[in-house]
Amino acid sequence: MATLLTFEEALQEILSRVRPLPAEAVPLALAAGRVLGEDARAAVDLPPFASSAMDGFAVRAVDTPGTLPVVARIAAGKPATRALGTGEAMTIATGGVVPAGADAVIPVEVVVQHDNSIEVQSVESGAHVRPRGGDLASGDVVVRAGAVLRAAELGALAAAGLGEVACFRRPRAAVVSTGTELRSPGERLEPGQIYEANGVMLAAALASAGAVVTPPTSATDDEQAHRAALERGLAADVLVTSGGVSVGPHDLVRQIEAELGVTEVFWKVAVKPGKPISFGVREGTLVFGLPGNPVSSLVCFELFVRPALLALQGAREPGPVFVPGELTAAVRRNPERDEFLRARLRVDGARVLLEPVTGQESHMIARAAAADALVFAPRGDGELAAGTTVRYLSLR
Ligand code: AMP
Ligand code: MG
Repeated sequence: MATLLTFEEALQEILSRVRPLPAEAVPLALAAGRVLGEDARAAVDLPPFASSAMDGFAVRAVDTPGTLPVVARIAAGKPATRALGTGEAMTIATGGVVPAGADAVIPVEVVVQHDNSIEVQSVESGAHVRPRGGDLASGDVVVRAGAVLRAAELGALAAAGLGEVACFRRPRAAVVSTGTELRSPGERLEPGQIYEANGVMLAAALASAGAVVTPPTSATDDEQAHRAALERGLAADVLVTSGGVSVGPHDLVRQIEAELGVTEVFWKVAVKPGKPISFGVREGTLVFGLPGNPVSSLVCFELFVRPALLALQGAREPGPVFVPGELTAAVRRNPERDEFLRARLRVDGARVLLEPVTGQESHMIARAAAADALVFAPRGDGELAAGTTVRYLSLR
C-alpha cells in the first residue's frame, strides 16, 4: 500500500492551489469578519488636531505655577475663536481643540477655582495634550492587507476616516450530501434511514469561515443524482461534498467528479477520523470530498476546508492554529495516523486542561458536540500519558 499523505502534506497540497479571490469595495459597516485586500491608509492625522486628554484648563506651561484668568470655554467639536494669550487659561473638555498658544492642560481636579480665575501648580509642557498624529499620520497604514477585520480594526479604520475598504470577495460555497439513506430532520424515518446531519453542519461551518453558502442539497447514491447535484455545486468557488468517497460500491463522488472534469489532487490522508477525504480542482473551484460520518466531516472541515476558505479570502495565516494544552487522561496513539480527539477544554489558572470526551467514534456527532477542542495526537506507538502537553485546535 502506498504511504498516505500526512496531514501537513495534504494541507500544503491544498493551500498551494489557493489563489485569493479579487478584492471589492465594502462599506465599513458591512466589513466585520472580512479580510482586508490591500493596506488601508489613514485619510487624516489621528488625532486630527492637538486635543485635550482631560476635562480641565488649557494653559502655557511657562505661566505655571500661578493664578490665571479664565478667558474662554472650549467644548469638544468647536475650536476656540482666538489664541491663548500670555498668562491666560481656557476651560477645555476632553477631546477639545487645544488652542494656539497653549501647550498643556491642567485637570480640573487639581486646580483651585475662583469666580473667573484658577490657581494652578507647576505643569510640564505637553501635559495632558494628545498631539496631532500621535496615533498615526495621514497616509500611514492603519490595518495591513490580509488582516481579518474585527471590532478593533473596524474602530481604527473608522477613526482614520475610511468609509469603505477593499476586502477580498467572499467565497461562494456549495454543499452536497450524498447517501440514499438520508432523510431531512423533521421527516419520518423509514427502516434503514438516518437523518441528514452534514448539510446543515457544513453550511454553518462554511458561513462561519466567511463563505456565502447556497442552500445544501442531497443526492441519492446513483450516478444521475450525483451528476446533477455535483455539476450545480461546481459553479461555486468551493464545493464540499459529504459521503461517498470510501471504497464501497455506492461511493460515486470521485468517479462522477472526474467525469465532470475535476482533477483529483489527493485521496486519503493519514488522519483519524477522516482518512478517505479527497481533494481536487476544476478551474477556479476547490473540491473537497469529506467522509460521510458526521464527526469525520466536521474534523476534516476544520483541518482542511476552513484554512482553504481563509486563504481564498487572503488571510495571511489561514491556520489551523494549534496551541498547547495538557491532557487530563491517557490516550492511546494510532501507529499510522495522526488522530484528532474531541475534548472538553477547562482553564485552571494558567493551565489549559483537555479532557477527551467519551465516545470518540466517527459517527458520534452528539458526543463531539460537547467538545470545545480537537487534540492533535501524533501517530506513533504507545500512549500519551495524562499530563502530557499536546497541541489542540479550538472549536469555539
Ligand atoms: P459514507 O462516507 O457515504 O460511506 O458514509 C459513512 C457513514 O456516514 C454512513 O454510516 C452514512 O450513513 C453516514 N452519513 C453519510 N452522510 C451523512 C449525512 N449527511 N448525515 C449523517 N450521516 C451521514
Ligand atoms: Mg454513503
